[in-house]
Amino acid sequence: MERGSRPGAFSRGWRRWQAATLCLSLIMVVLAGLWLHTRLEEAGVASAAMSLRGRTIAVDAGHGGIDPGAIGVDGSAEDPLVLAVSLRLARMLESAGATVLLTRGADEPTTGTTTQGPSHRTKLNLRRRVELINAASADVVVSVHANSFSNPSEHGAQTFYTARFASSRDLADLVQRQLARLTGETRRKISDHIDHYVLNHTDMPGVTVEIGFLSNPREARLLGDPAYQQRVAYAIYAGLAQWFARLPATATEPSSPRPRTALSR
Ligand SMILES: [Zn+2]
Repeated sequence: MERGSRPGAFSRGWRRWQAATLCLSLIMVVLAGLWLHTRLEEAGVASAAMSLRGRTIAVDAGHGGIDPGAIGVDGSAEDPLVLAVSLRLARMLESAGATVLLTRGADEPTTGTTTQGPSHRTKLNLRRRVELINAASADVVVSVHANSFSNPSEHGAQTFYTARFASSRDLADLVQRQLARLTGETRRKISDHIDHYVLNHTDMPGVTVEIGFLSNPREARLLGDPAYQQRVAYAIYAGLAQWFARLPATATEPSSPRPRTALSR
């Protein structure tokens, strides 16, 4: 060591430089890991999407016609939002070679006569949807809704299933995982706490996706954004693709009896 040098200051500086380099390296490793994970996940979805070819998928946009569904804090109705996401999902599925049965479009006529009242017409509408889906012998049904709650801080998309078909739970799990990954807006878990007429009366596995809370100001804004709608639709698409990829090609699953439930949702 030369005379006049300051070994203490030098080694402190050297240690700081080493620590900064280590930190930077760790950050780069984590970022590279995330990038690789995303690429692998996307490659997995792209490969799984091949299993959508030839499948029939019922996409049930909730509400419509005389029934607007939930009304958001900003005055937006559930009806057109869930239809927008459903139409995006239908386009993706069709591009992958699936046949899509949409239970309604934007111009859905009301069913029943005006003398019977709105609730009667809504019930007939739900029955008609179930008849359409069952008649088409769809492989799976996905019902799309948006949530609302008295507490405006509640937020996050959530996927529901019933125990009528064991594989519905697997589908719910895959869709929920993709919603969490692709929206970054939900930590909710899948749930079977649902009484949904369409899921209760259709002859195939299915899920209901509540795409977010219209009662939450931030989420209501997001749900109105076409780019966010596309991400939500893609998450459902990715979950469906992964589910079909895991399903044996000729799988037919016996259902448990249909529950006798009130018409709802
Ligand atoms: Zn709804």
